[in-house]
Amino acid sequence: LLQIENVHKRFGRNEVLRGITAAVAEGEVVAILGPSGSGKSTLLRCINHLERIDAGRILFEGQPVGYRERNGRLVEAPEREIARVRARIGMVFQRFNLFPHLTALGNVMEAPVHVLGLPREEARARAVAVLERVGLGAKLDAYPAQLSGGQQQRVAIARALAMQPRLMLFDEATSALDPELVGEVLAVMRDLAAAGMTMIAVTHEMAFAAEAANRVIFMDEGVIQEESTPDRFFASPATERARQFLRRVT
Ligand code: ATP
Ligand code: MG
Repeated sequence: LLQIENVHKRFGRNEVLRGITAAVAEGEVVAILGPSGSGKSTLLRCINHLERIDAGRILFEGQPVGYRERNGRLVEAPEREIARVRARIGMVFQRFNLFPHLTALGNVMEAPVHVLGLPREEARARAVAVLERVGLGAKLDAYPAQLSGGQQQRVAIARALAMQPRLMLFDEATSALDPELVGEVLAVMRDLAAAGMTMIAVTHEMAFAAEAANRVIFMDEGVIQEESTPDRFFASPATERARQFLRRVT
């Protein structure tokens, strides 16, 4: 579904991604772990072309993201082609960024109506279904300010799901939440994983990585230092860097 080939990304003189190669197959759940500043968010942002890459390429459904091939060379893709890719990749951030003036239902209906052009009734039915799926069937008409952080984050997940994405990216989806609210959001992520959603989750929740992921990617200094099954990674990491990281976080 997704191929990342030798991707490099720099901000000025700071090379943040230094040759990332990885692939994610349909239905896989990949946890990305690594210390602060290792390039995890930047990698996610490159996947849906919120950042341009300096070298390498990213293929989603076999097509280069953000670029198209012309006469054997890669040129920048037109904006609507990038929008089409983004519509198929759901992204959930640490901060939920809901529209404060729209209800839960309104937030979830927004993109299906305005990006996909669905008729309002169809978008509404779809929004109700995904809000029920994240356990918010009783909160359709609540505004973000009337919801807890965990509920707001679940609306954000529902909003992404309403686009029926092929791939979901999570960037520390629980790290802005009060500890007692983390569980309800992780439960939704676990359900999605169990239902076969293809997911890449940057997370500090080692239990989630250990239980829900098929694969762990450990990044440090813009490089994938280690790629492994959760069992192997947590029981006996292969690199000293990963051992140090695990000592700090567990
Ligand atoms: P954290 O765990 O703290 O979220 P991270 O692994 O997600 O860290 P990134 O956010 O990808 O790390 O940042 C990697 C490096 O890139 C950092 O040194 C950061 O300062 C730099 N960086 C990220 N975004 C930008 C930007 N827009 N402009 C300049 N530098 C940036
Ligand atoms: Mg980050």
